[in-house]
Amino acid sequence: MARHDILIGGFGAAGAATALALVAGGVPARDLLILDPAAGADGPERVPDARILALNTGSRRFLATLGVWDDVADAAHPMTGFAISDSALGEEIRPALATIGMEDGAEPIAHLVPLGRLTAALRVRVREAGIAVRVVPITALSAGPDAMRVESGDRADSARLLVGADGAHSPIRRLAGIPFHGWAYGQTAIVATIRHTLPHEGRAVQHFLPAGPFAMLPLDEGRSSIVWSEAGAVARAVLAADPEAQRREIARRAAGWRGEILAVEALSAHPLNLRLARRFVASRLALVADAAHIVHPLAGQGLNLGFADAATLAEMVLERLRLGLDPGAPDLLAAYQARRRPPAVAMACATDGINRLFSNDSGPLRLMRDFGAGLFERIPGAKAWLMAQASGVADGAPQPSQDGRG
Ligand SMILES: Cc1cc2nc3c(=O)[nH]c(=O)nc-3n(C[C@H](O)[C@H](O)[C@H](O)COP(=O)(O)OP(=O)(O)OC[C@H]3O[C@@H](n4cnc5c(N)ncnc54)[C@H](O)[C@@H]3O)c2cc1C
Repeated sequence: MARHDILIGGFGAAGAATALALVAGGVPARDLLILDPAAGADGPERVPDARILALNTGSRRFLATLGVWDDVADAAHPMTGFAISDSALGEEIRPALATIGMEDGAEPIAHLVPLGRLTAALRVRVREAGIAVRVVPITALSAGPDAMRVESGDRADSARLLVGADGAHSPIRRLAGIPFHGWAYGQTAIVATIRHTLPHEGRAVQHFLPAGPFAMLPLDEGRSSIVWSEAGAVARAVLAADPEAQRREIARRAAGWRGEILAVEALSAHPLNLRLARRFVASRLALVADAAHIVHPLAGQGLNLGFADAATLAEMVLERLRLGLDPGAPDLLAAYQARRRPPAVAMACATDGINRLFSNDSGPLRLMRDFGAGLFERIPGAKAWLMAQASGVADGAPQPSQDGRG
């Protein structure tokens, strides 16, 4: 049985970033192993995921310390402001309920980055760093006092720490017997790229409709990415419709904010759930990203939380290894959970609450929304506070240092 310091289950964006952060901080590549059944063969990585994610300042800085931001910078589009509006379907453009715009020269609120391209870039860097990746699923676990035994098919490895970065369905979380809170939203997110006639000027629009939020996020000139959360049955009908019917349905929801919708490209569908692991750790195990938490995408924070998990865990493990201590010790795992579970719970509650408050046609709730948005526009400092939370660099968020140590 081969023995490693750290074994990572899952070679998505979060697993790959965790591995790179550890190596950047000085862990020898030979002490790491990544297992993932869908990792692909050697050679140029192809990750066919059409989603375009909003990555905040914290994530951008983290990727820069890993040497990956420059690999995706040409495909990253800055978002410099956004407007929130709500209306019934088919109404004319309603004035924005609230707006946020960055001052000239300020850092963008977020950058829009294609997830497939980002994951591929992270994977290429992992392979260049010489970290071993095996294309097998983790099928069984057993935690001993000093190490976790990890089975993958007919082979077994052991590690002082297993990082569970195996995504939303997380077999690792299940094998470790960690239950989760959560529910299905009954909404499906339809993701696509649209071409339109009006310039977006770097601004996003979050248009709350009774069935769910409809976001338009700025890409290059004349193109936006949409994330349209819709009731499951309607989403299925849209997905089965012909391209012209899809374009018309999207144009109805875009409500003129982007002028005429000329074309719809790269459409995909994602059923939406909320999931929070009751514990982010178990003996010799730490969960990161979607394996630990799945939040509604209306605030674009899922992978931002995941990268903050990866940065925090790497920082804590590196500190232990530098002192010659155990990277999977119970007190380290407890400290990791204490730092990362509260922000994930807060984001899950905030996005769930916003989705419930806005995704309906109730008159009293609309009044509350207008009242709340009016207050938000007037309270001094409210926007600055919100931006600090969303940027991932508020107090308490991990701040990856420039030397790449976590
Ligand atoms: C519609 C939508 C829009 C979103 N928009 C945003 C956004 O704007 N901003 C943002 O920050 N986030 C956003 N998110 C969230 C983001 O997409 C996810 O948080 C992120 O992709 C999760 O990455 P991951 O590495 O945790 O999981 P994954 O990418 O799912 O990777 C998990 C890996 O684990 C592997 N695996 C599975 N089983 C095993 C096993 N048994 N053993 C080993 N490996 C295994 C899989 O093959 C996979 O490669 C959005 C999500 C949705 C649905």
